[in-house]
Order: sequence, then C-alpha cells, then structure tokens
Amino acid sequence: MGLFGGSKRQCPICGNPAIKFLSTKVEGQPLCSDCGYKTVFLPSENNVKNMSLDQVREFLSFYDENAALRSTFQESYRHKFGFLGGVIILDTVNRLLHFNSSEEGIVYKASEIKSFCISEDSEPLFEGTSEELLCYQSTVPDRARNLGPEINRFLMDQQQYEQMKNMEEMLKKQAEQAGKSYTSNYYSSPDVDRLKPFGSFCLKIELDHPFCSKEEYSQGAPGFSSYTPSITDYLRDYEEKVGEMRNLANQLMAVLNPDAPAREVVPQPAPGTQNASAVPGSSTDAVAEIKRYKELMDSGVITEEEFAAKKRQLLGI
Ligand SMILES: [Zn+2]
Repeated sequence: MGLFGGSKRQCPICGNPAIKFLSTKVEGQPLCSDCGYKTVFLPSENNVKNMSLDQVREFLSFYDENAALRSTFQESYRHKFGFLGGVIILDTVNRLLHFNSSEEGIVYKASEIKSFCISEDSEPLFEGTSEELLCYQSTVPDRARNLGPEINRFLMDQQQYEQMKNMEEMLKKQAEQAGKSYTSNYYSSPDVDRLKPFGSFCLKIELDHPFCSKEEYSQGAPGFSSYTPSITDYLRDYEEKVGEMRNLANQLMAVLNPDAPAREVVPQPAPGTQNASAVPGSSTDAVAEIKRYKELMDSGVITEEEFAAKKRQLLGI
C-alpha cells in the first residue's frame, strides 16, 4: 500500500470507485463522486458528517426516488428573499415546491407541508394550512403614521451631528494652521434604521418530511431615507412589499389547498379596554331617566345642581 492508499477503495453506498481526495466521508469512509454530490441536496438541518452510512443510504435512495417529482416540476412562481436570502419556487399546477435554485434540489409535495407563516419580525401577517389562510391586520401602518415626532427628533439629531462635524473640521484646520496636533472627537451619525417599525419579513414553513422539518427565510423590511425620511414614502414601499407577501401567501395556498378559504383575523381589543367606550349605566333606561330629570329641572321642580348630580350618578361618571 503506497503513501496515498494504493488499494482501490469502493464507495460504501454504491460500490463504485471512491475518490481519494476531498471526498465526502461517512463513518470515515470516502464516497464516490456521484454519491458525494447528491449529499449536497440534503436539507440544511442535516449534516452529512454526523450521519451514519445507513442514514446516508436512506437519503440517497429517497433522493433518487424524488427524481420523478423533479422531472414533473413546472415552475409557476418564484420568490427571492433578497440578496443571498434564498429562493422558494412553486408549481401550483402539480402542487409541488422546492427551495433550491438548482433543478436538482429536492421537490416537496403539498401533503408534506404542515403550515407556513409570513410575519413582520415575530408578528404574524399570514398563516396558512391546508384548512385555511389566516390574514392578520398589521400594526405597522399605524405605527408608521405615528412616527412624526420620532422623525423630527432624528432630523434634529442629524442637524446636530452635521454641526459637530463641521466644528471638528474647523478646529482641526485651526490646529493645523497653528502647527499643533489635534485629536478629533468621534461623533456617530444618527442611524435612520431606528425609525423602522420592523426589521424584516420572515417566512417559516413547517414540513412533515423525514429530512426536512422546517425552512426559514427572511428579507429586510422597507426603511426610511436618511435625507428625506417620509411617512408617505415609507407607507408606499411598505404596501408594495406587503402586496408581494400577500401574493406569496396566496401562491403557497394554491399549492397547499387551492380550495381553502381565507379569513381575516379581527384584532381583539386588549383586556380591560373592551368596554372603554361604553359608560357604565348609560343604558337606554339611564338616558330616559336623565330626560325625565331634565323635564323636572326645566319645570323648576329640581335645581340645576340637583339635575347635574343626578345625571352624574346615572351615567356613573
Ligand atoms: Zn457511490
């Protein structure tokens, strides 16, 4: 046996000659190039280095069987999650999907998808199962509309920052002219991203599959321009992105179950605020009582003070 292992090694999976260098090893044994290549398509939650030969064998036979779905797959929709953020590709006719830009990636069937959720950070926006699509009301537009004071503060901070920077420049120049050294102070510019109502749109898909239990993606939410932060511009960008997310949700539903209904989830008022608008005791009876006392006051039977006191009592205020 030579220095590099003169004896021909066989792939423990298929028996073909194994490659010696840079090969994928399982239980310390090198695989052939073909078997090694296929392990690239293992969903990311699996690590071939930690798998047993039996597990890899199982995956490779699953992968070979999956070829039938791969050849059926007809792309009808794709969503890219920003730069390097991954991609999801759907076939709404055959109700299939895959998560790999390569056509050799694993193709999943609708029946293998348990649910999906599209959220704004952790706040759900759409939740889908084969039963129904739930559409939540986002708090983002309201939060964005209330950002006026925050935007003003940001602009003031930015103005202050510019002034400090100019002053530093001036002091530095003066020091140079006087032949003295000057150590600049460092001021950090205000970060426009602090205005963002949320950081990113997230998609989480849960699967019922031996090699893939979930897939997660995210893409950055719209932000504000640091020169002219505008709520109107933000809302326009936001609506456009939410439209894309709604389309993604609808396309996923077309794969999960094209006949499933969509339902708007009406936000529940926070506990304790439910009856805030209704004044205790302001039933029609109380109103009728007040009218009666008003007549008594008008006809001079009771005084104005007495009427006011009675009114307060009836309304419970
Ligand atoms: Zn092999």
